[in-house]
This record gives sequence, structure tokens and C-alpha cells, in this order.
Amino acid sequence: MDSRTNHQYRLAARPVGLPQPTDWQYAEETVTEPADGQLLVEVAYLSLDPAMRGWMNEGKSYIRPVEIGEVMRAGGVGRVIASRHPGFAVGDHVSGTLGVQEYCLSDGRGLTKVDPALAPLPVYLSVLGMPGMTAYFGLLDIGRPEAGQTVVVSGAAGAVGSVVGQIAKLKGCRVIGIAGGEAKCRLVVEEFGFDACIDYKSQDVRKALREVAPDGVDVYFDNVGGDILDAVLTRLARGARIVICGAISQYNATEPKGPANYMSLLVNRASMTGMVVFDYADRYAEAAAEMSGWLAAGKLRSLEDVVDGGVEAFPDTLLKLFKGENTGKLVLKVAGG
Ligand code: NAP
Repeated sequence: MDSRTNHQYRLAARPVGLPQPTDWQYAEETVTEPADGQLLVEVAYLSLDPAMRGWMNEGKSYIRPVEIGEVMRAGGVGRVIASRHPGFAVGDHVSGTLGVQEYCLSDGRGLTKVDPALAPLPVYLSVLGMPGMTAYFGLLDIGRPEAGQTVVVSGAAGAVGSVVGQIAKLKGCRVIGIAGGEAKCRLVVEEFGFDACIDYKSQDVRKALREVAPDGVDVYFDNVGGDILDAVLTRLARGARIVICGAISQYNATEPKGPANYMSLLVNRASMTGMVVFDYADRYAEAAAEMSGWLAAGKLRSLEDVVDGGVEAFPDTLLKLFKGENTGKLVLKVAGG
């Protein structure tokens, strides 16, 4: 194999607030050939996720922090270009934690083979990847929606939210999205088939919910936390289930804000439950099979926002998530695929 250079982003410092350019180190190293039991993956697409902000922090979480000097953790899909691993051949496509870099040397652990003939590679980071699994298990296992019930989803035009709403529609629910801006709200209704969408940037969420969900909210799938969570808490139906999937409005806050209206849980005999998608790893295949069927039947739409910038564009592209500049799953294109 010719000598190749691997460009990478490593964590240089733990951010305070929004990640700054100085929190990253752009590095390069020569790619080493696989040893026995290893394979080399050329990264095609990287998944950019709000969770990355949390992985940059020190301290206990559901996953260990990225260490200073370490290649930034990222999910990705790519192609095997050299292999001395019995389970992977040159030309195979794989998904897994590849890191913010152009090449990933792996022992195969945590890698899954994917088939680009069945779905374009970015879809394996979207509906058929981590966000899709989050939507599927968060909604069905924790939200437990019943036909005819009202489901509200924040971050509705994003990777997880857009899938949550579509699955809830497939289950016969009335579905209301919450998203930022008129264009996103139009997309949520017209393309993803939600019944209504509240623009939290121009509308009072609490008042708008009174109009579009007069009987209250049975399931709230929360991607954003903060003021929107507090507003939805005031509109719960009896026995409501709140799925705490994420709180992106708080990830860069130096003084995070908790919900003030939590007594609504008591009054309405409601519950609020956190979920971490990795807990469902042994059931991913089940979800992928059902969602592939929905995709093939045209019942589910996977929308990716692909930025063709290469690894170098990583720091700026990540910030799009926190500025609301992505629509659907944010993906960074690294190589040809
Ligand atoms: P995404 O929704 O595709 O992108 C993030 C979106 O968040 C932005 O486009 C923006 O949309 C919205 N946003 C940003 N700042 C906001 C603010 N201050 N207030 C309200 N909305 C804001 O991202 P995703 O990958 O689907 O992730 C959505 C949530 O799920 C995140 O909280 C993430 O951490 C969580 N998640 C959790 C798990 C788990 O296992 N628990 C797994 C995956 C993801 P607008 O333009 O509409 O504001």
C-alpha cells in the first residue's frame, strides 16, 4: 500500500460554552498498514451529533469523555481498503465509531457491515443509524403512543425528531412538531406529514399548544429541554409520558436550566424518563428491519443534510447543529464513499 496521510481533528481543550477553534487540533499522521486481526477503513461520511458536545466535557456520563489529545469520537461509514481481519474484506462497507479522520485502523470491534446497494451510505447514519434507532426505541419503548393520542416532538425538523413524528403518524397518532422557523415548520408538515408544527421562534409554544392540542399532550418526545420543555409540561394529558432524549438548548449553557413546571407530572400522573440509545444495541437489527421496510414502501422519509467539506470542515460544520442550520441528519462528506 502507498503511504497515505491521515488528517484528523483531536480535542485540544475542554470548551466553555460553544466549541471554539482553539478547542481543536488539526493533526496529520501517516497511515499504518493493518497488523494481523486489523483492517483499515477509508472514511466516507461522518455523523455530526449534538452529543459530541457532551463527549467533550470532563466527568461522568453514559460514555467516557474524549481525552485531551485524542481523535474526536464520531460515528461514520466507510470502505475497507486493506484487511488482515477474517471478518472483513477489501471493498466491504462498514459503519461504526470511526472518529473525525480520513482513515480508521480498527480491530473490527463495533463495526457493522452495511450494503450501499440497499440504501445510500448517509442513510446508515440517519434513519438506519443511531438517530433512527433513538427515534424508534425512544418513542415506542418509552413514549408508548396509542392510536388517536397526541404526540408532540421538539427538534421536529432534525434527525431524530423527523423520524419520531413519522413513526407516530404510522401508529395512528395526531402529531405536532416544534421547530425553529417557518421553512422548517412547512417541511415538517408537508414533507414529514405531521399534523401541525409550532415555530418556537415566532410563536408562544404554550398558547399554540392550547390551540393545536386542546385535549392535552399524551406523549412528549423532548430533544431540546429548557423553555420548550417547561411550556409542554403545562399542557400534559393525564397519564402522559415524556421521553427525555436530549436537551440541546442547554448543551452550551454555562448555567443549565431545569424545568420549573415539573409539578404537572404529579397533577397529571405523568412520567418523565431518560433514554440512551446504546441500551438498545441488541435490538437494533429489529428496528432496522422494520424501518427498512417502511423506507422501501415509501412510508418513511430519511432526510440527510450532507456537507461536502472533508475532515477540515468539521469544527464549523458541527456548530450548525447549535445554530439550527441543519435540516434532517447532519453528515460531513469525507471521501467518495
Ligand atoms: P438535530 O435535531 O438534527 O439538530 C439539532 C437541532 O436542534 C437544530 O437543527 C435546531 O433545530 C435545534 N436546536 C439547536 N439549538 C436549539 C435551542 N437552543 N432550542 C431549541 N432547539 C434548538 O439533532 P439530532 O441528532 O436529531 O439530535 C436531537 C436531540 O436528540 C439532541 O438533543 C441529541 O442530543 C439527542 N439524542 C439523544 C440520543 C439518546 O440516546 N438519548 C441519541 C441521539 C440524539 P431548530 O432550527 O428547530 O431550532
